[in-house]
Amino acid sequence: MSIGVLAVLGGTAFSQQPQAIVLKAARLFDGRQMRTPGIVVVAGSRIAGVGANATVPAGARTIEFGDATLSPGFIDAHTHLSFMYTADYRQGILDSVQKTIPEQTLLATDNLKKTLMAGVTTVRDLASDSFMDVGLRNAAAAGVIPGPRMLVSVHAIGSTGGHCDFQNGFRPGLFGRESGPEDGVVNNPEEGRRAVRYNIKYGADVIKLCVTGGVLSLTDEVDIPQLTQDEINAIVDEAHTLRKKTAAHAHGAEGAKRAIRAGIDSIEHGAFLDDEAIDLMKARGTFYIPTLMAAEGGREILAKGGYPPPVAAKMTAAIESISQVVRKAVAKGVKIGMGTDAAVYPHGRNTEEFHLLTALGMSPLDALRAATSVDAELLGMQGQIGALETGRLADIIVMPGDPLLNIRQTEKVFFVMKDGVIYRDDRAFTPGSSR
Ligand SMILES: [Zn+2]
Repeated sequence: MSIGVLAVLGGTAFSQQPQAIVLKAARLFDGRQMRTPGIVVVAGSRIAGVGANATVPAGARTIEFGDATLSPGFIDAHTHLSFMYTADYRQGILDSVQKTIPEQTLLATDNLKKTLMAGVTTVRDLASDSFMDVGLRNAAAAGVIPGPRMLVSVHAIGSTGGHCDFQNGFRPGLFGRESGPEDGVVNNPEEGRRAVRYNIKYGADVIKLCVTGGVLSLTDEVDIPQLTQDEINAIVDEAHTLRKKTAAHAHGAEGAKRAIRAGIDSIEHGAFLDDEAIDLMKARGTFYIPTLMAAEGGREILAKGGYPPPVAAKMTAAIESISQVVRKAVAKGVKIGMGTDAAVYPHGRNTEEFHLLTALGMSPLDALRAATSVDAELLGMQGQIGALETGRLADIIVMPGDPLLNIRQTEKVFFVMKDGVIYRDDRAFTPGSSR
């Protein structure tokens, strides 16, 4: 995080530069291909030109990055920015019930800042509590706090006792009443529709379902289906009717297949998918978001003994299984997007997902596409973000060197612009670039 950012910005709200800006680097990744030279013209919040033939307005300010790569801001299709990371599972539960919602929300602003500074300019935030995600989204959009553009889901929708029932693992009556559709807990198709409508009424941009058990919930088995085919059909149908995309938390193959058959837009995690589920995603054009950083974060917490025994056992099994699933999905040409499950690992390390994907057979170019043009399509925002193209929103990041030669250059992003506003500019600390 640059100390210079606040000095550059001056006031309390973040705003665009008055004059046009020309960003120049040795190369640019346009969302599909690597090109030379790297020239992007920004006017206000939009990209006004790309490449050597772009028209430069009189009085434009030029920023030279030298041997560096311009890229569309990265999109992380799976975050939980309102949840704090902790390596101590039990302490995390205590914090979530002891700290007030205003305190939790204010603490979470740091998660937004770290995410944006890492080069992630848009996130799809998949489940929150007490509408913290809606508040954080709106505050970042208003320029009051630095943060990525957020598409939020309010409550994830699942079944009683399932992965997304927040009362899972606690004694009956502790919360005063059983969780219901207003908490995202449903037990028939009509309750599913009601939960979708409730979420959207109070600010959801996207609908998240929990169609199988999960790793971090205390009492359920990780790979069992947790919603019926009829329930999933109703939830997905209602969301699509209201023009919202859908994402399914799914580890087990049976639950994932039900979601894919229902027309789900993306499958998240997928640690125990079988060949039939992978083939079904390929045939239906379903996106797959492996969230390999969740496994990485899990590995680190396991090493510190941070999980209670049932969670540790599930995490170990998921880590052992996920690599072969992702290798197969890459080999079969499934549409794989970039998402990380931020909060399961420390916020701000999102771009470590790239090297985990390439280690399982994805090319560096496809990894970059996953976090730009592919995720933009998944979010239904193609035409606005995910590409360096005239007319798109000016979400532009810069990393040193060439990420096709070393994908871990993505972890060294030193310049971040969102909506034409410069949030990070650390050229002074980057060898090989000039001021
Ligand atoms: Zn998640």
